[in-house]
Amino acid sequence: MSTASGKPDTRTAMRRLIEEARATFPFDAPEAQICADGCDGCSMKLLEFIGQQLDEWEVRLDDGERPDFGDLHRLGRLCRKTFDVLKRNGLVDTPI
Ligand code: SF4
Repeated sequence: MSTASGKPDTRTAMRRLIEEARATFPFDAPEAQICADGCDGCSMKLLEFIGQQLDEWEVRLDDGERPDFGDLHRLGRLCRKTFDVLKRNGLVDTPI
């Protein structure tokens, strides 16, 4: 993924990551579905947190900010950690 100048386009990569996360995580699922018996990690809190991070990055991208590779790595790692917990709790099955 690169721009015409050959520089890696981290803005596009961040947008894609956000899109994938929004398509993967059950942000619209009712609380009754998320709060199952015997949670292994709090899916509710994680969804809230990752949702805030995605919203924040969308605003920053809309403001013209260019994330660096560290930003992409951190958000990607957070998505994977969230995915692992949601998977343990039976709320997702397709990895990002
Ligand atoms: S640990 Fe979190 S996800 Fe589980 S029931 Fe409590 S609030 Fe809901």
